[in-house]
Amino acid sequence: MYLTAGTVLLSNEGNPMLEIVADTCGRHDTLGGACATESNTVRYALQKRCMHACRDSWLLAVAEHEEFGMSKRDITHNINFFMNVPVTPEGCLRFADGISDAGKYVELTAKMDVLVLISNCPQLNNPCNAYNPTPIEILIWN
Ligand SMILES: [Zn+2]
Repeated sequence: MYLTAGTVLLSNEGNPMLEIVADTCGRHDTLGGACATESNTVRYALQKRCMHACRDSWLLAVAEHEEFGMSKRDITHNINFFMNVPVTPEGCLRFADGISDAGKYVELTAKMDVLVLISNCPQLNNPCNAYNPTPIEILIWN
């Protein structure tokens, strides 16, 4: 449930896709999912429907890149890196204050060719980022 260094991310066919080889944060959510127009509306308010939604960003990215031959069906579970969503003793999810900080990082090694969609979510409706989304930096090397 909680990913960290040593975790291997598997494809739907059980093949290793990525391995987390370094993690200075130690908390990443795999249960909360990505925000969507529908969830933002249900969770926050009807007038939040027009706000950014990660799911829409990914759908747009897939639609704009026909060369990958992907569709809505190819978008699977996401990882909310640096997001703190603990499971309570009652089995509920809770959006908790983040425990990440500037300079924290996650390093992954690709075990196969992978296509990664990233949304640095400006989630302005819940306090998970103290209502202050910050930039991310992504480095890719061979
Ligand atoms: Zn989002």
